[in-house]
Amino acid sequence: MTAELISGKELAQQKREDMKAEVEQLARTGAVPGLAVILIGEDPASQSYVKAKEKACNNIGIHSVVQRLPEATTEQELLAEIDRLNEDETIHGILVQLPLPDHISEKAVIESISPEKDVDGFHPINIGRMMIGEEGFLPCTPFGIVEMIKSKGIEISGKHVVVIGRSNIVGKPVGQLLLNEHATVTYCHSRTKNMKELTKQADILIVAVGIANFVGSDYIKDDAVVIDVGVNRLDNGKLCGDVKFDEAKEVASYLTPVPGGVGPMTITMLLHNTIQSFKRTQK
Ligand code: NAP
Repeated sequence: MTAELISGKELAQQKREDMKAEVEQLARTGAVPGLAVILIGEDPASQSYVKAKEKACNNIGIHSVVQRLPEATTEQELLAEIDRLNEDETIHGILVQLPLPDHISEKAVIESISPEKDVDGFHPINIGRMMIGEEGFLPCTPFGIVEMIKSKGIEISGKHVVVIGRSNIVGKPVGQLLLNEHATVTYCHSRTKNMKELTKQADILIVAVGIANFVGSDYIKDDAVVIDVGVNRLDNGKLCGDVKFDEAKEVASYLTPVPGGVGPMTITMLLHNTIQSFKRTQK
């Protein structure tokens, strides 16, 4: 059999059209959602992520502010800028593009963003809210993954989900969100023994390792749903995921491609969170 693809690109486009209409409607009240993105230094990958976020905001009518700061910016200067944005009533979401230069503490930066404007969902308060099922901001990549699974009407409740990877931004929160949806969740990581025995039991397998072509068909149960989060650049310049696509598509029932899978959904959920933040301030 051949797996049905879950196109993040198509789902993201649909959602962005809906959001554009919603922002147009909201703008009639005289105000629009605003997102501030801070980029420090010249890292090419970070620059292209920030450009993509700016373009996505412009396309749907979200007011976008991008602060490009030099590599030499001190932690104190950055925290002062975040403070200013925390107080700015035209800004409803603040995002600091990671990774940061070594002389700036990621923890200090994440914790300085007001939890009410933390549209990345990385602040410990929002992580805590997610853990106990309270309303907050959900981290964008895991949130997008759950939306992709639901978009195909795939039942999550009672399913065995295996997540490979336990990072704070992908692995851990995606497992938690699926637990909140009543899945039984197993995490695998670099110290896991007999990993294939575990992954072969997965009804839904989420792969967030960051190693090109790490998972082949020998990791996948027949008819499993396979979500490939990995984004790896090969020597030939092409992007590829953590899953061997050609092998997985012969075994899985549903599969996400790379590119065009999880990636486009991440920015889409950032836009969603920014609109939610705006609507909360209007209540
Ligand atoms: P990360 O912080 O490097 O975490 C990788 C995880 O994989 C760690 O938990 C690590 O285990 C585990 N791991 C590494 N080698 C392993 C092995 N041989 N066997 C089993 N587990 C292993 O990466 P991340 O930030 O979660 O990102 C993962 C991938 O997703 C990357 O390719 C990244 O580019 C991509 N990504 C995509 C999006 C998107 O929007 N599409 C967003 C974020 C990330 P330990 O904890 O034991 O070290």
